[in-house]
Amino acid sequence: MYQKTFFEDLIEINYEKRVSLENLRPWSFSKYDTFKSCPIKFFFRYVYKIEPKRNKYLAFGNGVHLVIEKLLTKPISLKEKNLFNLAKYIKENYEPLFDINYFKKYAANILNFVKNIKDNGNLFEVEKAYGASEDYVPLNYENKNVFIRGKVDLILKDKDGIRIIDHKTTGILNNRSLKKILKTLKEKSSLQLFWYASLVALKTQEKNFTISFFIVKDGKLISKRFEDFDGYKIFKKIKNKLLEVEEKLIYKNIFEVVNIKDFEFYRRKNKALCGYCDYQNYCLNLFKLLKRE
Ligand code: SF4
Repeated sequence: MYQKTFFEDLIEINYEKRVSLENLRPWSFSKYDTFKSCPIKFFFRYVYKIEPKRNKYLAFGNGVHLVIEKLLTKPISLKEKNLFNLAKYIKENYEPLFDINYFKKYAANILNFVKNIKDNGNLFEVEKAYGASEDYVPLNYENKNVFIRGKVDLILKDKDGIRIIDHKTTGILNNRSLKKILKTLKEKSSLQLFWYASLVALKTQEKNFTISFFIVKDGKLISKRFEDFDGYKIFKKIKNKLLEVEEKLIYKNIFEVVNIKDFEFYRRKNKALCGYCDYQNYCLNLFKLLKRE
């Protein structure tokens, strides 16, 4: 039994625990993405169920999402002063680690974005949760038979169809360049929007979609338009990917999924991300255990 930890503040983990179906389903995009970027992290987060600590990165993303949601849904006039008061209110009531000084640097981008939506868009839904069964039947987000689910930041609807928008605060606090942010978005986040579009298509029967990222760092909206979007076809692709992952993981413990070579590979591959990972100490501890074997 690999239960001993070397770090006083870490909770004990039974590393022989095997992955159950409840650990995998319902699938969210971030759960799938965690597995793809680092299966070790996946085990800490979703199998051993160690909650990530609140930190300034999570707080900033959540703070910005809340600001945009309130600006769009409450009768707040779009002035800088109101925006700062709203951000202060969110810090005091929801996100104590929300960095208001950083937020101020991007306030103009957020105001322009919201102003544009209010002037031109038909607001449909904000922060709305969707779910689907394994047979692509719509289900409530919390239903126990949900296979995939997602919370969509913003949905607009007009005569040209539906626009799904995801707000990206990536790279603001760690000063990542716009080039790097766009590369990451290109690599993985379009799948996130396809994931959401297939859920929204199921509920609305809409076929014309525009999927967009609002890049808070430079205020731009990056969009792609699809006519005759086939939500079921996309769902089937996503489902096949997820069934492959389930096949790799189900009823296995971490040592049957990640050997020492994989471990070294993921630590090298994620070098830039490991510094921001909540599970660094657990990961080091596990690495020492593996090396001892
Ligand atoms: S520290 Fe790096 S390798 Fe370890 S779990 Fe986190 S992201 Fe994965």
